[in-house]
Amino acid sequence: MPELPEVEIYCRYFAAHALQQKIERVRVLDERILGDIRKQKLTSALRGREFARVRRHGKHLFAQADVWLHLHFGMTGDLAYYRGDDPRFARVIFDFENGAHLAFEDMRLFGVVDLTPDPDTYIAEHRLGPDPLELTLRRFRELLSPRRGAIKSLLMSQDVIAGIGNLYADEILFQASIHPRRAVGRLTAEEVKNIFTAMRRILREVIARKAVYASYPPRYLIHHREEGTRCPRCGGTIKRSVVFGRTTYFCGKHQV
Ligand SMILES: [Zn+2]
Repeated sequence: MPELPEVEIYCRYFAAHALQQKIERVRVLDERILGDIRKQKLTSALRGREFARVRRHGKHLFAQADVWLHLHFGMTGDLAYYRGDDPRFARVIFDFENGAHLAFEDMRLFGVVDLTPDPDTYIAEHRLGPDPLELTLRRFRELLSPRRGAIKSLLMSQDVIAGIGNLYADEILFQASIHPRRAVGRLTAEEVKNIFTAMRRILREVIARKAVYASYPPRYLIHHREEGTRCPRCGGTIKRSVVFGRTTYFCGKHQV
């Protein structure tokens, strides 16, 4: 499921292939992928224009072509720039004047394609919290201090911080040695700093590895998401439980 690092990679992919090219035609192959916009409006707003720049906030991608195209990748969203046959799960396709195409693919249709006047309006209207890569430790403390509840659910709440989902929330807490159910109000200043540091380090590290799981360091929990396996860090046992409806893995020994 695409989280911040995957969407950052899509954003770079979009920028590398689809900018400064005239959009000859927009094809909506499945209208169920559209947000609050009609097919006709999407196609007429973008036809004849060029994408000038691309921006990411949390798990959202925005591409400016006068108005802004907004993409959310849901569970199985992806981008493909290609010539020739359309990909099997293409839902919206941008045909460029140079003969190439950019497809928004989404097998399961949980993603969204729509337009927004500008990303800041979208972020405000949808009450998205700040992007973790633009946060300072001070701001992170301010975001957590009025909150109640378990740290894992807060890390995944898009109105607190935008971009972290189940997989990276588990990874951050594993590397910061914090139990996923720990109450935010009971974290020490040092522990909040450890979470912040782990969050930034992990996001940067995985983006640098192009979000390809197999290339992540062996010490990452992501390679050990199986109940009963040995913790790569302390030799404890990896446990599985359900926290707020999401399957959660953690070390029963070093995460406290
Ligand atoms: Zn451990």
